[in-house]
Amino acid sequence: MADHRPVIRRVLLVTTVGLLAALPFGAGTARAADFPPSHAGYHTDAELAAELAAVGAAHPDIVQLFTIGRSYQGRPLRAAKVSDNVAVDEAEPEVLIDGVHHGNEHLGAEMTLAAIHLLADGYGSDATVTRLVDSREIWIVFVLNPDGAAYDLLGAKGFRDWRKNRQPNSNTTAVGTDLNRNYGYRWGCCGGSSGRPSSRTYRGPRPFSAPETAAIRAFVDSRVVGGRQQIKAAITYHSLGRQVLWPYGYTKTDRPADMTADDQRAFVAIGRAMAARNGYRPMQSSSLYITDGDEIDWLYGVHRIFSFTVELGARTASGDDPPDDVIEPETRRNRTALLHLIDRAGCPWAAIGREVENCGAFYDDLEARTGWRVNPDGTDTAIRGAWARGNAAPTWYAGSLIQPGTAPSGTRVLATGLAAGKTASANDLDGGLTSVLSPSIDLPAAAGQRLTFRWSFAHAANSSPSDFLRVTVEGPSGRAAVLDVRGSAALRAAAWRTASVLLDGFAGGAIRVRIEAADAGRASLVEAQVDDVRVTRPTP
Ligand SMILES: [Zn+2]
Repeated sequence: MADHRPVIRRVLLVTTVGLLAALPFGAGTARAADFPPSHAGYHTDAELAAELAAVGAAHPDIVQLFTIGRSYQGRPLRAAKVSDNVAVDEAEPEVLIDGVHHGNEHLGAEMTLAAIHLLADGYGSDATVTRLVDSREIWIVFVLNPDGAAYDLLGAKGFRDWRKNRQPNSNTTAVGTDLNRNYGYRWGCCGGSSGRPSSRTYRGPRPFSAPETAAIRAFVDSRVVGGRQQIKAAITYHSLGRQVLWPYGYTKTDRPADMTADDQRAFVAIGRAMAARNGYRPMQSSSLYITDGDEIDWLYGVHRIFSFTVELGARTASGDDPPDDVIEPETRRNRTALLHLIDRAGCPWAAIGREVENCGAFYDDLEARTGWRVNPDGTDTAIRGAWARGNAAPTWYAGSLIQPGTAPSGTRVLATGLAAGKTASANDLDGGLTSVLSPSIDLPAAAGQRLTFRWSFAHAANSSPSDFLRVTVEGPSGRAAVLDVRGSAALRAAAWRTASVLLDGFAGGAIRVRIEAADAGRASLVEAQVDDVRVTRPTP
């Protein structure tokens, strides 16, 4: 789409040599970081840079190299985009692949390198790879923690088992933050990280305090285009353990309120399908142990990205990554699992047979920000209770539920004011009209697509027919009323209902959905909610 912002910057890849020479490597060592002989096949930062430059030069039409920022010590956080028409931001599902949050987990770098080779070298010869590169935009961040990875190589007899980044902490000589405890979703909530700077799992003084996680956040945020996150699936490579893990890490509950039932089922189905391909063990992340502030919890909790942690490689007696002869077989066995996830990014819910419902032209469970605009024309007249997206508090009036406190899916809805307030009338809709407009929805030309949504409209007996909840479809060929519920002089309790309308008159064009609620005429107690707005796929 034309309004997509370009995020790619052409990159200076090989400033590495001069940069490394100037870097503070820590007390008492002047050695260049290198792997011990048993691990010589692993890539140092400089070797990674050289290999990426070679891949980029060999495949300029489908590979673009860039950086998402710099590490604490100033190393580039190297990244690549792989797609056909790679210089253009096309309207294709996007996938994020990253590696090496933890300095002592070098296999992740080898897997991200294997990934770019799989995609770039297989393009044009492997039918699956070619189809996926043509129909996806794949982002790879190779090594998120280059400082920790370099420092890990400086042990007296090999590795020094360095997990964190190399950022100093105030008022202590203890160095480093565990990058995979530094993300801003339920950060530090649940005993899955440490507040002590000397701990291996130190979460940092605040979310995204590490430049490396801040860089990932900025990059992922930049993929919100037209109000909608473009990245649909993500995989982060760690080692060791041979597991496929899905969110959440912060809780042992399979499906807490901040995960919808459809999403939970899709996570399990996709995770198991990946595990069937790489022979790993699939499980919820917290089944391994509780983590809070990790990447996949944030990618899903905030951005609704189907995100997996993969622990590469069998456990070793030393705890170090295995010798380099393991790199080829271990990355090889992960190829089809990775390709499966990239494929699923087109419709993650296909894994549970929900393509028609959840993978049409639009699906919004309202759990994440997706570009709805309140008061889009600047003409709303309501003085309280404007549409807001969030977790609505239940509100009771005269023994009846006026505002539901539970959502049809997840926890969040669009509501005419989210708060309950001490008196039932304090936070309802008042003074006139509030409206909210969906992002633009491109309808395919096929007949049989339906707009469906859940709604609730409630009012006290002081209402009248001048109060309403109204839903309209707007397109180039005009408007169509979908729902028009009026108030009356009798109490109407809240209840979730479903509306559905065929969109054949709009097929092939762009539409928006306008939702309006009003407390007009005499002031009355009025509450409206909407959830799960979908345009379903055409059914035969
Ligand atoms: Zn790790």
